[in-house]
Formats: sequence, C-alpha cells, structure tokens
Amino acid sequence: MALLVQKFGGSSVADAEKITNVARRVVASAPGNQLVVVVSAMGKTTDGLLALARQISATPDPREMDMLLSTGEQVTIALLAMALQSLGLKARSFTGPQVGMRTDHSHTQARITQIDADRVRRALDAGEIAVVAGFQGLSDQEEITTLGRGGSDLTAVALAAALKADVCEIYTDVDGVYTADPNIVPDARKLARVAYDEMLELASLGAKVLQTRSVEFAKKYGVTVHVRSTFRPDPGTLVTKEEHGMEQAVVTGVTHDRSQAKISILRVPDRPGIAARVFGAISAKNIVVDMIVQNISQDGYTDMSFTLPRGDHARAVAELGDVAREIGARGIAHDERVAKVSIVGVGMRSHSGVASTMFAALAREGINIQMISTSEIAVSCVIEDKYAELAVRTLHDAFDVARGVTR
Ligand code: ADP
Ligand code: ASP
Ligand code: MG
Repeated sequence: MALLVQKFGGSSVADAEKITNVARRVVASAPGNQLVVVVSAMGKTTDGLLALARQISATPDPREMDMLLSTGEQVTIALLAMALQSLGLKARSFTGPQVGMRTDHSHTQARITQIDADRVRRALDAGEIAVVAGFQGLSDQEEITTLGRGGSDLTAVALAAALKADVCEIYTDVDGVYTADPNIVPDARKLARVAYDEMLELASLGAKVLQTRSVEFAKKYGVTVHVRSTFRPDPGTLVTKEEHGMEQAVVTGVTHDRSQAKISILRVPDRPGIAARVFGAISAKNIVVDMIVQNISQDGYTDMSFTLPRGDHARAVAELGDVAREIGARGIAHDERVAKVSIVGVGMRSHSGVASTMFAALAREGINIQMISTSEIAVSCVIEDKYAELAVRTLHDAFDVARGVTR
C-alpha cells in the first residue's frame, strides 16, 4: 500500500463545486493507498484577509496577522472532509497544530523545526483520509504561525518527508512546471522532469508554481514532488535529483518577478563601513535585500544600488533618507516598479556566451538592463517593469526554449 501526500492549491478549491471536484479526485486515488490531503485557503482568501488587516492597521501585529491568515485554510479542511464523507469515505480534518507542525516563532515567515506526525499516522492506520490545513504551524511558545506565502506547498512536502510518503503530488491550475509561465508565454513547454537545483532557482526567481522553501525541503529530504493538474488526468512534472538523461538544454526555463523595487544611494564616500551602515539600517527593519550593485569609485565616491520587495520600498526609502545624510551621500534615487527577468539551466555550467546572448536579445527589443546578477545556473537582469512580459517572451524565443535545444 502506497502513502501519498496530495496538495490542492487555492484556485483548485475556490468554491463549493471545486471542493467537491477535488473530493472526487481524491476518491479516485483512494483504493489501495493511504492518503494525506493538504489544502490551501479558498481562491484568493489569503489576499482578502491581508487587505482586511491593512484596512484596520498599517502595521498589523504579526501574531494577530497569523491568527487571521490561518483561518483561511481551516475553512477548506472542514469543507473537504465533509465532501469526502458525503462520497462515502472516512475522512478527518486537522489544523497545522493538530498534526504536530512545530515552527520557530518568526510570525508570517515561520520555519518548520519539527513534525510530530503521530496523529496523522493514527488516522491513516484507522483507514481515514487525513485532510490537513496547509501554511500553518505552532511555535515553541504555543502560538499559531504561518509559513510564508505559498506555504501550503511546504506543509505538503514536509509531511511527505516526515511520513516517508512515496510521492508528494502538488495539484494546481497548470499541468506541470513549464519552460516559462504558460499564462504569459503561449508556446512554453511542459518539462517532464526538473532537477531540484533548477527548480530552486526557477522558484526563487519568480516561478510561483512551487514555493521556494518547499523545494529546499524536498531537496534536503529527497522527496519526489509531482506537479500536476487538478482538472486534467495527464502526468505533470517530476521534481527530483539531477540524473543523466534529463533535459539537455542550456536554458531550461525563463522566469520573471514583478514584485521588485530598486533604490540607489548616490555619490557615497568610498570608505570602509559604509555598506555595513546602509544595509545594517535596512536589515534592522527586517527588509530582505536581493541584488546589490556597487560601482568602482571614480573620485572617492561611488553609487550603490539594490533591489528589494516592492512592499518594503516606502519603509526603506524613509529609513535611508537619514542614513544618506549621515554618511555624506548626495541623496537617494528610487524606482518602485522594476522587474527581474532570469534564465535558468544547469547546462550553463558548461556553456559560454549565454549571458551575452541574453543581453543581445533584450537590446534588440530596446529593453535597457539596469542591473545584472549571475549564479552558477542562472543569469538575471533588472529592467523596467512594463517590459517584463515582453522580455520573458523574447528570451524564451532567443534560446529556443520551446524546442529544448540541446547542449
Ligand atoms: P496554487 O494556488 O495551486 O498554489 P499558484 O498560483 O501558487 O497555484 O501557482 C500556479 C501558477 O504558477 C500558474 O497559474 C502559473 O501562472 C504560475 N507559474 C509561473 N511560472 C510557472 C512555470 N514556469 N510553470 C508553471 N506555472 C508557472
Ligand atoms: N493560502 C496561503 C497563500 O495564499 C498559502 C498557500 O496557498 O499555499 O499564500
Ligand atoms: Mg501556490
């Protein structure tokens, strides 16, 4: 008998009819298998709860925020358990705390520290389907926490690891991981398999089909993840360790992230301690910086630029005004609307000229590159936000990603 963890995302459980459909899908996998079903909040419920909190307070208390956000998933588990029961199956719903999902206490971004899955095991042994609320846990101070946006993916992967499940199936509104977001690039191609490291880069550079931390967890514990469609039966994409015979393309995928902003500090004196002062002030506000670029100084001065989440832009600008004065910089310039486009592929390790092909393709479309960063298997460019989708399509064509040209 196999043990499967199945996770259904928000759009798959958006209304009562969709929840009933999910229940039918679960019923179809029930014979001969033990099932743990992890669900997200219905539709855009989490966005709605966040907006509601902002109407009450500009700076909501993180503990209360988690208390609020965790309600979304609790609705879905009860409804899905009822739907399964009315189809004649034994099912029982569980919150994160009830399944022993222990976390640290960083509210809204908590990290899993331990899972005590006894309660789920007992339910499975009693022949029940365990329906588990994604995205939530309990801190060592017995407080409810949430695992960051998209965190139901992490709940599913972590339970799969703890229960030594045979596979973790992520059911969503697309039928797999594509070479680019299929909602933007019509000729994007579904990948049959993708290596953990590539999926990690794709996810962290903007492909929200899997939460980045869930991929880290899957890699660490060797969980095979199968991303597939809630609405269609065909097999999706397997996320596994790198193997011979996998995709041989130089560029496996193109991603974009439109949630970025850019800040530059102008004419910063070029002396030790300045970067530490600037980024110390930013990190004291719990703002996570992404790309950082500093030019070589000309006459004892340099410009320093970095990107950060758009939602943190206003706070960072407010904080840096004083810092800029204090360190003797000329001032700050900022752009609230930039995007990052990236190409990803393990083939880049053994290939030269990839970055220059990328820059040339963007130049042909008249897209200016503001910042560049590279890793072993990715190249990213910061550009004006309005060109994000054009840039993704252009790069997808330039590297012939739809055909999967081989190394
Ligand atoms: P869920 O609600 O099921 O968690 P998400 O909205 O989080 O679903 O993730 C699925 C979405 O991810 C798709 O609708 C698609 O627009 C987007 N996406 C972005 N990049 C990719 C990609 N490379 N392959 C597949 N989907 C992608
Ligand atoms: N409901 C949460 C979110 O929207 C978690 C998830 O859907 O994975 O981020
Ligand atoms: Mg998601």
